[in-house]
Formats: sequence, structure tokens, C-alpha cells
Amino acid sequence: MTALARALELLYVPRCAACDVRVPAGQPLCPPCASSLVELGPACPRCAEPLAAPPAVTCARCARGDWPLESTAAPWRFGGDLARALRRLKFERRPDLARELAPLVTPFLAAVARAGEVGLVVPVPLHWRRLAERGFNPAQALVASASKRGELAVPVDAAALRRVRATAPQTGLSAAERERNLRKAFRVAPRHVRRVAGRRVLLVDDVITTGATLAAAARALRDAGALAVLGFAVARAGD
Ligand SMILES: [Zn+2]
Ligand SMILES: [Zn+2]
Repeated sequence: MTALARALELLYVPRCAACDVRVPAGQPLCPPCASSLVELGPACPRCAEPLAAPPAVTCARCARGDWPLESTAAPWRFGGDLARALRRLKFERRPDLARELAPLVTPFLAAVARAGEVGLVVPVPLHWRRLAERGFNPAQALVASASKRGELAVPVDAAALRRVRATAPQTGLSAAERERNLRKAFRVAPRHVRRVAGRRVLLVDDVITTGATLAAAARALRDAGALAVLGFAVARAGD
């Protein structure tokens, strides 16, 4: 650690990731914000779509075989103050919030990586133009904070996937339109194919909405020879 990093560490004051009030170290949200957290609950084990049925049953889409991931997990439902914290991370350029949110993410991410016998973790990339706009990739920041805590004992390759097509904003599009929008949007970088091929890869994003992004990224990894692709996101949107 450099002297500057040490000095910054001493000045560090933990704050609620959603509303900025001071919190004890290691606590991601203040008690009122934390009370809005909702666990995802029963969901399709392959795509994490919330289901009323017991979790051993897949959703209709996965039963049709339309989902390229072996399994997908998200500990939380997207909403409340967690949504607020994730939006701040993403749109207010607050990579520091990835560190605050780590206790809500890391134990689950590490458990999925262990149980899934994953050999490589790959954050879902942004297109370079969006990356330049935001200054960082939220999915990558979340993975980095998990690795930093030493709980994620799997190599991370944030450069394995490239977003080769800038896609129009997905908001307001149907699932089918999102899928069309994202076709061929991702590619494994040629120099990283060797790291991906033959491996079980865990793909990580901040939020899953319809799953179209995750599916498109997973297809690119499978095309490059990944043995299987597993998915993880902090939160899953649901009805
Ligand atoms: Zn709060
Ligand atoms: Zn499913």
C-alpha cells in the first residue's frame, strides 16, 4: 500500500450506499435502507426469473431450451434502496459504492463460484464509448471489490469479453426486441480465447432485467469454447 493509499484509508468513513448517512464499518446500508432489501426468493435455477413454483422447476423459456446459461443466481430483488444504491453506482459515477455494497454481494458471488466449480470470472463489459462516458464498468467494480476482500478465489478476466456493438438503450424494449438489439453485441477477444476455452465461466452483471444481455454475453463465451457459462447478478428485476 502506498503512503497516499494508507492516508486515504485513515480518512475513510463508511456511509450508507443509498443515502450517505454514516454507518458502522462493514454495513452496506443504514437500517432504514436495509429494511427495504428483499431476497429474490423462489426463482428459475437456470435464468433466475422469479417463480411461484418451487425452485427445482425451470421457467417456460428455460424448459424450451432458449437459455444459454447453465445456471443463474441473484441474491436480491431489484427495488427499494438497493436499486437506489445500484443506480448511484452506475449513473453517478460512484465506483466507491462497489466497496460499500460488497457485503451484500461477495458472500453470494463466492458461494456460486465455489459450488459451480468455476475456473474464470468475467464481468459483463460496457461498450468503450459508454465506458469512456462513465469512467468505469459497474460489474467490474463489483467483482474487483469481491476479489479485494479475498473471498473470491477464482481468476478474473475483465478483458475477455468485448462489447463490439454499441446498443441502443434497452429501456422500454420487449424481451424479443432486446434480444435482437444485442445479437452479436459481444465477442471474446482473440487473445483471451485460450483462457475461456474449456473453462466453466461465471459471468457477472450488476442487474438482470430481462436477461437478454446476460444471454448474449453467454453465447459469445460459448462460441469461444467455454465449457459452461453460469450467471450472477446483485439483483434481478421481477414483476
Ligand atoms: Zn441509508
Ligand atoms: Zn428460466
